[in-house]
Amino acid sequence: MTRLSSLTMKVASRCNLNCTYCYVYNAKDDAWRSRPKIMSDIVFLAAIKRLAEHARASNTRPLRIIFHGGEPTLVGSERLARWCEIAREELAEFGVSFGIQTNGTRFTKPLVEVLKKFAFSVGVSIDGPRAIHDRFRVTHAGKGSYGEVFRGLALLREAHVPYAVLSVLNMLTPAKTLYDDIMALKPDAISYLLPDYSHDTFPITCRDGRLGEYLQELFDEWWFQGTMRIPVQPFRAMASLIMGGNSTVDIFGNDPLGFIFIETDGTIEPLDVLKVCENGMTLTPFNVLTNGFEDYTRSNSIGAKATFQGSDLPSACATCPEASTCGGGYLPHRYSRGRGFDNPSIWCRDLKALFSHIRHRLAVPHPETELRRQILRSLHEVKIEV
Ligand code: SF4
Repeated sequence: MTRLSSLTMKVASRCNLNCTYCYVYNAKDDAWRSRPKIMSDIVFLAAIKRLAEHARASNTRPLRIIFHGGEPTLVGSERLARWCEIAREELAEFGVSFGIQTNGTRFTKPLVEVLKKFAFSVGVSIDGPRAIHDRFRVTHAGKGSYGEVFRGLALLREAHVPYAVLSVLNMLTPAKTLYDDIMALKPDAISYLLPDYSHDTFPITCRDGRLGEYLQELFDEWWFQGTMRIPVQPFRAMASLIMGGNSTVDIFGNDPLGFIFIETDGTIEPLDVLKVCENGMTLTPFNVLTNGFEDYTRSNSIGAKATFQGSDLPSACATCPEASTCGGGYLPHRYSRGRGFDNPSIWCRDLKALFSHIRHRLAVPHPETELRRQILRSLHEVKIEV
């Protein structure tokens, strides 16, 4: 049976920010308009019970609940604490951990206390130095949000709540400045995110391979500054893959994703970012109020296949030397109206250059990756993360 170990709960369908590039509000999808603003207790409890049913039947443990949105802190600290208590109780036999992905503008002392009490892993979005961040991550009135986020991070640090910074790359800051600026915020982890487009919307200005060069510069800052104790993605995942390990992020490889999204009305959906492909791409007829996750497992959609069985390697990637590491890149980045998901990533050129750069630093040529993978598998015969 395919295992589902993580639920991403879209507990708020709206956001207090209106980031210019947001794939929820400013791309193709508009399903959020007709959904409740905040998830109800009934939907939350139904989702948790569905997860418990599934975990029992598939013998899956431990489990993970990620609070997501919109902006998940809009649910307020009291409700968040209540939901965490419910999840802990209902999922006690499996073990459960919590995460939250937030824009970081609404941290308060009571909220931070909840995050601390339930040992949340916290991801906060920051797109670079104040002037750059404030160009993209704005309120509905167009005001930059850096000041609020900066204050929020101070509250987290004061309470010793660890946090990761997630940064969508825009290349408006020199790589070294971006790296130093984010490191100065004292994160416990960093994720650099490639902008989300499909082949149909990929801007012509992004096709020149500059992002690949920029990522190589960022990688070298991590590599040479003596800061490798801080996990930085996607570099750590790429190094793991090159060294024969498994993909530790969903942007590489074709393994089953193993997580789903629950919308505020209870709809069960696959990978949220598929919303950049087409309006309604993630919609399903399944809802936690009436369906178990097994109903979705049996559905024939591309999202269910990616979630439970894994995706196909795009045919054009078959002869690529990074086919077994990159695997075609992030699923939404493969999509075109003409060929569906049977395309290499829009960022193919950039990824190839970055893989090659990291290989060079690690001194691991392609045949060695395969040899390492075979040896590691024969040693453990389980999934290995290096
Ligand atoms: S680098 Fe490009 S061709 Fe190679 S696997 Fe990735 S997307 Fe496919």
